[in-house]
This record gives sequence, structure tokens and C-alpha cells, in this order.
Amino acid sequence: MGRSSKDKRDIYYRLAKEEGWRARSAFKLLQLDQEFNLFTGVNRAVDLCAAPGSWSQVLSRKLRGCAEKAEKGESGEEVKIVAVDLQAMAPLPGVTQIQGDITKVSTAQEIIRHFEGHPADLVVCDGAPDGERLAFCLTSLVLKSPLSPSCCSYSISYVLFLVTGLHDVDEYIQAQLLLAALNITTHVLKPGGTFVAKIFRGKDVTLLYSQLKLFFDGVTCTKPRSSRNSSIEAFVVCQNYSPPKGYIPNMSNPLLDHSYDVDFNQLEGPNRVIVPFLACGDLSAFDSDRTYPLQLDAGKEYQYTPPAQPPIRPPYQQACHLRKKNLLSREDAPSVCPTQSQDEPEP
Ligand code: SAM
Repeated sequence: MGRSSKDKRDIYYRLAKEEGWRARSAFKLLQLDQEFNLFTGVNRAVDLCAAPGSWSQVLSRKLRGCAEKAEKGESGEEVKIVAVDLQAMAPLPGVTQIQGDITKVSTAQEIIRHFEGHPADLVVCDGAPDGERLAFCLTSLVLKSPLSPSCCSYSISYVLFLVTGLHDVDEYIQAQLLLAALNITTHVLKPGGTFVAKIFRGKDVTLLYSQLKLFFDGVTCTKPRSSRNSSIEAFVVCQNYSPPKGYIPNMSNPLLDHSYDVDFNQLEGPNRVIVPFLACGDLSAFDSDRTYPLQLDAGKEYQYTPPAQPPIRPPYQQACHLRKKNLLSREDAPSVCPTQSQDEPEP
């Protein structure tokens, strides 16, 4: 294949090189801006999952203007751009870089420190599951596990299959990244601010929309022209950040610290979602945890009633049959289950 064949097949790949963007993804953010006017009045921004840095380039050019040395935006306010990624990223003018995992509390805290007392106007996240890293983590888990060596080779090929073929895994990790980004956003975004994030439109995407709607007045799912139709990816543009009244941002996100019990039970006010619990029925009904005598009614003798519909072919049918014929312990017991046993199955 010639050097130009990718240029032929992917117009945005070619244009990115020609216009000096580090990745074709730059066009996704530029096209989102054309539709949603993302950068008006924005001086302070966070770019989560930023490497190799084309979104940071867009932010840098849009917020600081063409003069790459500009420290102040059009409004004269100081411009601040913080970019975060697992991977190291070549430096960019006016962009502070943090190398770290956005699902880790320590990284979240480092980002939050940059915006203390002066929140961000915009948070963007183009995070996508990092296949190689996932393969590495899962493979190390498998190798460290007490499984026998014979299981390991099987498990490793399973791991490799996981990161290349199972969309559910990708969707799950993508959702984790988005929720981690949302959690960081609740700490750093100013009221009225905007959050833009990549989202995979999988089967459970409506759950993510509901969670985003709790924090933003407007949530729109959109797909820029530069995002391939064949890709499950889309972008959520969440406008006018307005958390529930009394909501206090916290790090008690099970995705971030994995301590469900302790932290969820300590949440208070609107941070603690309480779903009403209704005890259905009163004390006159039978208590399902009690044992009652067979004769419930003093004047009425107990009589056994068979189940209205016994299981059609339960897995224990053969065992019942063998036990009734006293064949259970014999080695020459027939291995085939009688097809239509008249025996009543055990409860
Ligand atoms: N917006 C970027 C650009 O324009 O250059 C491209 C981002 S790329 C599609 C996805 C990035 O997500 C990768 O660089 C990957 O390292 C990063 N990533 C994946 N999981 C991450 C995590 N847990 N924490 C931080 N970055 C992560």
C-alpha cells in the first residue's frame, strides 16, 4: 500500500496533517464548536484524556488566539488549560499537563487543585478505552492469579479476545471514563459551564443520559461529520451546569475509590439518593420467615395438595428416579434419563 493510500481513504487524517493538528480528532471538537459555540467566553478549560493533544491544540488556539504566546484571552482574563492523559504528551504552549489516570482519586485531586477558587468554564473528555493498557492489566491479573499454568494460556487468549472483540467491555469502560470525567467536572466546573464528552451509544446509554441530566439543563447527543459512521462513538454536549440544590461534590464515587458501603451510607442531603421503601401488607398476613403448624385452622384437617404445575423436565429428575429405584449408589446405573417420568419431582 502506498504512503498516500490512507490520505485517500481518510480525508480528515490528511487534513489534520496539512493543518498541523496532532490527530484527526481535532475536527470533531472544531465541528462541535461550529454547532454549539463552545468557546465563547471560555478562558479556563480542562481536557481529559488529551493525548496526543489535538483537542488541547484546538483549545490553545481558540482560547489564546492565533498569537501562541498570548497569556490572556479576548476578555483579558488569564487563560488556563489543563490537559490530562495516561500517556505522556509532547508540550503545547499554554497547556499544563498532568500524566495520570482520570479514574484515580489522586489524579482527580491534582486536577481540582488547579481550579480551586477559580472554576473552569469548559471541561472536555475524548476518553476511549485504552486497549493495550487493558490487555496489559488483564494479562497481569491472569498471570498473578492462583490459576494453574494450563488455565493461564487459555485465559490470556481470552483477554486478548476481550480487548479486540467484545463491545460490551468497551462500552463499560467508556461509561466508567465518562462517569469519572463527570465526577471531576462537578468539582471544577462553574455553574452555567459546559461539559463535552465522548460517549458510546450502546444499549445502556440512556442510564448515562439520565445521570448527566441530573447535573445539566441541556444534554444533547451529537455526531460530528468527522466521526465515522461505522463507529459507535458520539458526543454529549452538556450545557448550563446546574447541580441539584445543595449538592456537594465528593469523591465518594465507587468508580473512583471502590468503597461502596462506607461512603454511600455516609452521604447526606441531595448527595444521598433515597428511594422510598414500602412495607407491603400489614401484620395480619403470614410471616414468610416463620414456621407454621401443618394444621392452620383448628377445625380443618391438613391435606396435602400437589403443585399446580410441576417442573416439566427438571435437572434433578434423573436423580429422583434413580433414588426411587434404589439405584443411586450402583455403578451400573443407567446413564440416560427416562424421557417421560411419571415420578413426581422433589420440591
Ligand atoms: N482528544 C485526543 C486528541 O485529540 O488528541 C485523543 C484522545 S484518544 C481518542 C483517547 C485517550 O484516552 C488516549 O490517549 C488514552 O490514553 C486516554 N485514556 C484512556 N483511559 C484513560 C484514563 N483512565 N485516564 C486518562 N486517560 C485515559
